[in-house]
Amino acid sequence: MNLYLDEKKSWPIDFKKPLIIAGPCSAESLEQMLSTAKKLKKYKNILFRAGAWKPRTRPNSFEGIGEKSLRWFEIVKKETGLKTATEVANTHHVEEALKYDIDVLWIGARTTVNPFAVQEIADALSGSKKPIMVKNPINPDINLWIGAIERLHSAGLKKIAAIHRGFFAYNNNKYRNIPQWQLAVELRRKIPGIPMICDPSHISGNRDLIFDISQKAIDMNYDGLMIETHINPDEALSDNAQQLHPNRLIEILENLVIRNSEIENTEFKSSLEQLRIQIDDLDNELLDVLKRRMNVAEKIGEHKKEKGVTILQSKRWESLLSSRIDQGKKNGLSEEFMNKLLKAIHQESINRQIKIMN
Ligand code: PEP
Ligand code: MN
Repeated sequence: MNLYLDEKKSWPIDFKKPLIIAGPCSAESLEQMLSTAKKLKKYKNILFRAGAWKPRTRPNSFEGIGEKSLRWFEIVKKETGLKTATEVANTHHVEEALKYDIDVLWIGARTTVNPFAVQEIADALSGSKKPIMVKNPINPDINLWIGAIERLHSAGLKKIAAIHRGFFAYNNNKYRNIPQWQLAVELRRKIPGIPMICDPSHISGNRDLIFDISQKAIDMNYDGLMIETHINPDEALSDNAQQLHPNRLIEILENLVIRNSEIENTEFKSSLEQLRIQIDDLDNELLDVLKRRMNVAEKIGEHKKEKGVTILQSKRWESLLSSRIDQGKKNGLSEEFMNKLLKAIHQESINRQIKIMN
């Protein structure tokens, strides 16, 4: 793909690994922003984030203060020297953010999914040279992500970065949004040189997972991390479970192992690491699916109990076995492997049903 992006070193922020984008999910008050920013300032290389407008999944949640909060970004910048970033989702947001000279803008996951909205933002930004970051769309469709980047690029923007914040998956329970690292790897392959930021906060939905996800991103050579940070995380008006106190953020950052590319063969390590991370990802999905399958098997057990039917229905089992073996063969999986796998799964289902029967 021929996208001519400005080099990282020409950005007004420093991608010297890693860039840390930190600050609250939402701009709530001047006092909240300023006290958070003052604590963050102690750490090197911080870009201060806060959402002025919040796209909420359900109505009647806190939807941000809007343009009134943009004045607070100016004050934070003036008092701490930190550059600032906020999310924009339409022409009005862009106009206001430009007026207050927010340093970096980002497009949220709920906006990247909508080409009309992205085009509107691109048109409103055209001629401005504003740095902009594009979060992955909610659904794992890499073309929507690329398409948004292309629309901005066609509008003349050349400082474009990507933010990987994970993807919605039904009934997943380890993460708020499953990472699917391979999609971010693929984006980087298709748009070489694009700065990649990982957002462990929206991937995890839970502050306890932030260190591990951040370390993975660093091992995969990401250029930066976006981590939600709030002076009083539990009282945050949005995303309170995933936000960190600035002191905890700094502790996490100080414990991250940043590998030295001079000493270690990082190229090799990171490609091996990337493949291992993809395996971890896939196993996580596999185990989730298995768990859901067992839950359904238990429901079937309850039905059988109610109707007084035996657990083993031989005909059903035979047809299931042969159809899955055929499907497995089409996917390049041997009959022997499919046989062992299906029998192990079936045995576990039967054990669950026996428990229910008795
Ligand atoms: C956010 O950064 O607070 C946000 C709303 O993120 P996302 O668009 O990734 O959900
Ligand atoms: Mn948030």
